[in-house]
Amino acid sequence: MAERPTCELRFYEELNDFLPAQERKRAATIPVDRARSVKDAIESLGVPHTEVDLVIVDGRSVDFAHLLRGGERVAVYPVFEALDIAPLVRLRPRALRDPRFVADTHLGKLARHLRMAGFDTLYGNDWDGERIAGIAARERRTILTRDKGLLRRRAVERGYWVRADESEAQLGEVVRALQLESLLAPFTRCRECNTPLEDVPRAAVLDRLPGKVRGLYERFKRCPTCERVYWEGSHFERMKGVLARLHA
Ligand SMILES: [Zn+2]
Repeated sequence: MAERPTCELRFYEELNDFLPAQERKRAATIPVDRARSVKDAIESLGVPHTEVDLVIVDGRSVDFAHLLRGGERVAVYPVFEALDIAPLVRLRPRALRDPRFVADTHLGKLARHLRMAGFDTLYGNDWDGERIAGIAARERRTILTRDKGLLRRRAVERGYWVRADESEAQLGEVVRALQLESLLAPFTRCRECNTPLEDVPRAAVLDRLPGKVRGLYERFKRCPTCERVYWEGSHFERMKGVLARLHA
């Protein structure tokens, strides 16, 4: 019997995060009994296609549908930030001008941080994967998740697997990974319900402010949906600190 055809796949940079420790930074050999798409080959090793930006097969840039027939060497790269790869096939849709997110059930704190940083972020503490994938597809939102399996769903186009455990570190990670630095707009969105905030005169909210806040702050905002009042107090200062550390 003839030897089964195989290909060699090698993953670069942070794509190795998806592989078991003993399989990182080395070539993996996989069978391609029948012609197998590059996308299927990549995902068979646990790397979601949403994380991949560039695939090189025997020195040539290909798209996800490219069929492997055996004997190829495949190099798989995450998004490049510094290299100009314009002539190559970019597989990940370009970053949106107006990035919008849907976060999974593990990321409630991150969702609030993103809203505080100005980003439109939907979150429900009982949303399952199907619901999240549906919202992302309908509203062209980027999924933020701790669940790699969610990103392997066929319908998912844009997604990011969050590595950090702690919510402020997660915010920094997402802002850096998705290149959101220039789009930060703190103090513009309700952290509880995601509605854009409105300016409100101090006099209009005075009776709802804690005593020590009344004298300390000049600028106030109100959420027209849930009526929460925001001022540039401790929470905002903390957020500014987090964002400042991102730039450092
Ligand atoms: Zn609100």
